[in-house]
Parts: sequence; C-alpha cells; structure tokens
Amino acid sequence: IRNICILAHVDHGKTTLADALIASNGIISKRMAGKLRYMDSRDDEQLRGITMKSSAISLHYLLETKEYLVNLIDSPGHVDFGSEVCTAVRLCDGAIVVVDVVEGVCPQTHAVLRQAWLEKLSPILVLNKIDRLITELKFTPDEAHLHLQQVLEQVNAVTGSLYSAEVTNTSVTPCIRTQVVYDWSSGLADTDDSKLYFSPSHGNVVFASAVDGWGFKIQHFSRIFSKKLGIREKILTRTLWGDYYVNTKTKKIMKGAQVRAKGKKTLFVQFILENLWAIYDAVFIKSQWLPLADAVLSSVCQYLPSPSEINGDRVEGLMCAATKSFSALHQESRALKQDFLSCDPTSSTTIVLVSKMVAVEAKLMPQNKPRYLLSEELPKNEQNEKNEQFIAFARVFSGTLKVGQTLFVLGPKYDPTSILDLNVKSNPHVSQTSVTSIYLWMGRELESLEEAPAGCIVGIGGLEDVVLNSATLCSSMACPPFNALTVDVAPIIRVA
Ligand code: GDP
Repeated sequence: IRNICILAHVDHGKTTLADALIASNGIISKRMAGKLRYMDSRDDEQLRGITMKSSAISLHYLLETKEYLVNLIDSPGHVDFGSEVCTAVRLCDGAIVVVDVVEGVCPQTHAVLRQAWLEKLSPILVLNKIDRLITELKFTPDEAHLHLQQVLEQVNAVTGSLYSAEVTNTSVTPCIRTQVVYDWSSGLADTDDSKLYFSPSHGNVVFASAVDGWGFKIQHFSRIFSKKLGIREKILTRTLWGDYYVNTKTKKIMKGAQVRAKGKKTLFVQFILENLWAIYDAVFIKSQWLPLADAVLSSVCQYLPSPSEINGDRVEGLMCAATKSFSALHQESRALKQDFLSCDPTSSTTIVLVSKMVAVEAKLMPQNKPRYLLSEELPKNEQNEKNEQFIAFARVFSGTLKVGQTLFVLGPKYDPTSILDLNVKSNPHVSQTSVTSIYLWMGRELESLEEAPAGCIVGIGGLEDVVLNSATLCSSMACPPFNALTVDVAPIIRVA
C-alpha cells in the first residue's frame, strides 16, 4: 500500500496528473484524461476549473511482479483551501509535488513543500508542462536543459531552507536520516544533507506533460542507451543528468568545463531532450512510448514508503502535541506506539484517524443498491431532505476496522493519563460509537467494504453524531489522540 497526496500551486497540473493516473486503471478513458478532471467531483469545482476539496481514489499498479494499492488524494492548490491540504497531508506517507516548469516555484509550492516537511512526508517531484518549453517558449534542447536545472535548483533551495531552519531551531543534535534517499520522515542528518534533495539520478524526479499523458524518469533512458552504447546502466543513470558528456567511440564519460568548451552536448540533452524535441508534435507516440502513469506510479511504489515503514518520529509528531512524547504516558499507552510502528492488521488494538467529514448523497442504483456520490457540503439540517449523509475521511493505523465494531471516539483534548476515569459518560472528550459502514474512496463514488486493514485510507459511516470534523477512533482508551489539524500558511503578501 502507498498512501500519497498530490500537492502543488494552483494550476500547476495536479488534477490533470490525477486524471492520467486514473486513466491508467481504466476508470476513465485515456482520451478524456486531462479534460474530465475526474477528482473535481463538485459542480463548483468543474465550473471554476480548480480543486476546492480533497478527494481520494484507490488505484492498482503492477510493478514487475509486485501488486500495489495506491491511495491517491488530490488536494487544492489555492491558498484559500489550506485546511484541505492539511487533511490530505495528515493521512499520507508520501507526496507527489507538481511544479509547472514555466512558472517555477510559486508561493503555494513553497507552502505545500513546507507542509509536507512538517508532517514528515517523503516526496517525489514532477516537473510538469515540459511541452510548454517547446511550444510556447520555443527553447532549444540546450536552453530547456538549463531552464530545468534552474527550476530544480529553486525547488531544492526551498528544501534547503526548510532543512536549515529545522537544524538551527533544534536544540538537540538531529539524528541521521540517510538510510533512504530523500527521506523526510525521520530526523535530520547534521553532516550529510544531500539525500534530502531532488535529483533525477536518484529517481525522485519525473519530467512530464500531464495534459499530453507522457512523462519519464532518466532511468527509462539509461536502460535504453546502456544497450545501445554498451555502457553500464548504473553508470548512465548517474551521469545522464548533470555536466556529463560521452565519447561515443571510446565509450568514455567525461565531465566539466573542458569538454563543454568544445561545444559538446550533455548526455541529458543529447540522448533525451534532442529525441523528444525531434518528435515534439507526435504527442500520441510520446504517450505510448513514455506513459506518464508508469513513470509516476513506479516512482511512488519504488521510492515512497509503505504505511508499515512509519517511524517513531512521525508517530510522536502525529500524536503527542500535548504530552510531548509517548514516554511521558502510562505503560499501557506507551505500548500502543509499537502498534503504530508494526502497522499490523492482526493487532488487537484498532486505531483510526478521522481527518474530516465529507458530505455524500445516496442515490439508488437499478438493483436497489445504494450508490454514494460526493456532493456539496450542506448544513446538517438539510441533509435528510436531500438524502445525504456524512462519511468520515479516515486512515486505519493499527488492527483491522470492521463493520459493526464499537470504538471509543477521542477528541483532540482527550488525555490518556486520566485513564483511571473509565466512565465514558463523565468524560467530555470521549464517546463511543459503532461503525455502520466502511467504504473505499473511488473518486466520485464509494465502494462498500466489510473491513479495512491497517494502512488503508477509507470512508466510515455512522459517525456523524459523534464526530464534527477530526477525531481519533480507538478500541482502547489508553490511546493518546491525534493532534488537532493546524493550517500552516506560509506568509504570503497579497498585492491588490
Ligand atoms: P491544478 O489546479 O493544479 O489541479 O491544475 P489543473 O490540472 O487544473 O491544470 C491547470 C491547467 O493547466 C489546465 O488548463 C490544464 O489543461 C493545464 N495543464 C496541465 N498539465 C499541463 C501540461 O503538462 N502542459 C500544458 N501545456 N498544460 C497543462
């Protein structure tokens, strides 16, 4: 399982990219991808052409022989919908950050990178709208290469500023986070920060044209050219991006100013951009040859963590705003940290985070099976007339959530250190509820499930009387509640 969100500044191409990923599962046709805006299910979103509410969809992806379930959340990019980004980020382990290569880093790019950093998500980067470099800016491959390098530098500069802000604010020595490339989820490396950055040779950068449905990582080309040139794939992967040149006769790869002075073209320009430029108007060929969904989903599955890779730092960050750390809690509560870390569906403790309540409209299908459609949020008193109900947007962190299960609902101010007070009725921050239904989010529709194991993002019915927006559901009262969501809006000055 991979739980990921798509983050970007408004109009940089999140919803178009989501369409391409959804089309790869046959949910919409490839021809309609980019036009349908499938994740923008509300009428006002379609009308305005922007995403206003986060929505989710579960996709299947086969990488070599391994099957993956990718739960994808599309979130709004407009500054006014920051709380929606918050709810999306909270449920995920990884993020696809989309940047329009013509616009470069914009205020909301900065804000979403910061949000992902604070929530310790691991990101991959999609440099989108590459086609605009050809069709609008009329760049040559050389100019495009230079421009792409600059955009990448801009993005990495934001990462660098987040990193140094954290290092200077941390009084204790930060722990090492070097095991996984660009892993933002654990503590910081005080000596080697190189792994925190985006680099095409690390495999965490996809070059894309979401609207035309094509995209690639340089690894795709190193495979092709290693056979053609007789140079090892590993070496080509390391040298396709950057100041590297090849002597095709001797098969020697060279670096630096001397070669550049001779007017040679870098490997990236020579082997990738010049090939692309040669067929720039053959969109169909490119989308067949370099399917965007493959480039993005293979990176997601290879490089972003699965829910079971969640680490102690992230768990503490999610739960312990009030108590600072699990170690300050009762023994019974402390033991629950292990449930988070093992993400075990067989665990006897079920722990679920509800990040928001979503209004859905029930419509009857021909076979009298209810079919739920996402609808505009209405005040609760209008629900019944419209046959609407609220479904919780939630993630199962431990155990298996089952229909009919009774769980405690813990408010953000619940204090597990008052566990001696087991009388639910006398504690204003706790109530009990029974799960009436569980759903898989499928964009505009919901699909019924009987149960959902740890790691899944699901919809839960039957909570509307006990949950207003976010809450913690747990089979044990020893669990500390998830921290309340806070909207982290970077300072943006609006100029009239
Ligand atoms: P969002 O606000 O981030 O969800 O952005 P959208 O997916 O709605 O895209 C904004 C606009 O950019 C739409 O008009 C898209 O058709 C267009 N767009 C998206 N991706 C590309 C791309 O790769 N190339 C070009 N030229 N336009 C794109």
